[in-house]
Amino acid sequence: MKISKIALKNKSLLVNKCLINGKWVGSKKTFKVHNPSTGDLIAEIPDLGKKETSAAIDAAEKAFYLWSKVPAIERSKILKNWHKLVVENADDIAKILTTEQGKPLSDAKGEMNYAISFIEWFAEEAKRIYGDIMPDPIKNKRLMALKQPVGVCAAITPWNFPAAMITRKCAPGFAAGCTFVIKPAEQTPLTAIALVKLAEDAGFPKGVINIVTSLEPEEIGAEITSNIKIRKISFTGSTEVGRILMKQSAPTLKKLSLELGGCAPFIVFEDANLDHAVQGLMLGKFRNGGQACVSPNRIYVQEKIYNTFVKKFVIEVKKLVVGDGMAAKSTMGPLIDERAILKVQDHIKDAVKKGATVETGGKPHKLGGNFFEPTVLSNVTKKMKCASEETFGPLAPFIKFKTEQEVIAYANSTDFGLASYFFSKDIARIWRVAEAIESGMVGVNTGLYANSGAHLPFGGVKQSGFGREGSRYGIDDYLEIKALSFGNIE
Ligand code: NAP
Repeated sequence: MKISKIALKNKSLLVNKCLINGKWVGSKKTFKVHNPSTGDLIAEIPDLGKKETSAAIDAAEKAFYLWSKVPAIERSKILKNWHKLVVENADDIAKILTTEQGKPLSDAKGEMNYAISFIEWFAEEAKRIYGDIMPDPIKNKRLMALKQPVGVCAAITPWNFPAAMITRKCAPGFAAGCTFVIKPAEQTPLTAIALVKLAEDAGFPKGVINIVTSLEPEEIGAEITSNIKIRKISFTGSTEVGRILMKQSAPTLKKLSLELGGCAPFIVFEDANLDHAVQGLMLGKFRNGGQACVSPNRIYVQEKIYNTFVKKFVIEVKKLVVGDGMAAKSTMGPLIDERAILKVQDHIKDAVKKGATVETGGKPHKLGGNFFEPTVLSNVTKKMKCASEETFGPLAPFIKFKTEQEVIAYANSTDFGLASYFFSKDIARIWRVAEAIESGMVGVNTGLYANSGAHLPFGGVKQSGFGREGSRYGIDDYLEIKALSFGNIE
């Protein structure tokens, strides 16, 4: 199969090699990357294994002793160079992203802005890694808390936000003085490699940033988790793989940040501004075809406004234009692969069998391939799979509720706790519900907090993981606290 070209201004961004210890490495063993819209082959990428991962870890360890001692202001300057280069090349990287991931180009550009915000934010934060001086109970002693980088880190990232998940991890890590081995998702390695290429151009010293691509994630994961030189793993992906990484990391006691799956409730109370709530739900639900960890998964609408709300929402859903992400008119791209299609179909089939009504959509799109119709189901109940499992696709299931108490119980009746949303104009209710919902993030009268840039502490509770990325807290996961105790100062 011929490799289909991506029209880029900066052709050097399209690299089919991995950076290990400052060298671009290829391999006789490769795997293919396809465009999920067209099925076209877009690249053949090195299929690396334990040996190369171990070499990358060695390089990152060697680099750590130098990089961690580079003054924060210098680290900040290199991060700013990276920021400048990524901004200059953002449109090209967005094209690569759309071609390998499928989301509409405008969404890919939005993701690039989000990704860029982390580099900018943490270039600044590098200079603000303050410690503390504590009063000591003993007269001639003084106590200090010093913050130091954790060490060599591994970043394992998913395909749904292939740019932002790299910068959300690496930018705070670099700012803190850590070095990295990155393992991107097999469907979307090209975006990650382009970002690494620009990091190299920005002046990160050899070994500070390494990337390993592979079709054997278990092999790479086993090396990363068992290698004592890796001090921290930051993982974004499924809860299932998060558990594996945690289990495998136990013998070497690594620090972990796990940004895992969700099952976000979206609640509309009868006192809400309905048009505003419809817009919020459209943004949250169909961005990336519902393939987002914060995507509203179960929609609870109070009984008095249920029918009106569903009707208003269906009108908007019918305006979505499904198509190739590179086509200007497309507002929803394909799903990532056939497995994703099968999961959405399974959830719809299960719901309809148990009494749900298809308001719109419900089947694979006439475009074929990985395209699926944006779907709305009404009369959904808690017994249906779509009300308790992450669908990760363009399915909006509507459940009716009566009281605030009842809907809070529904919202919390899941093992997940990443994102949640609710719409209400009652200030007392807003406080009550925001505090009662068990999730790391609550959107109040908004369906799109995750795009707000690096300012937000992003992360979950319960089986959605732990650790926070972004905001002033985002750097903490890459720092250790060292206590200094000074005696005999008199
Ligand atoms: P996934 O299967 O867990 O894969 C994520 C990454 O882990 C990929 O790079 C994958 O490699 C790698 N991986 C798979 N098995 C591994 C193993 N045994 N050891 C080491 N690495 C391994 O998740 P996904 O299907 O790509 O992504 C969807 C999930 O991510 C959803 O549940 C979604 O909610 C979650 N997500 C969470 C957040 C958040 O911030 N909380 C953000 C985005 C997505 P391969 O690509 O080679 O399989």
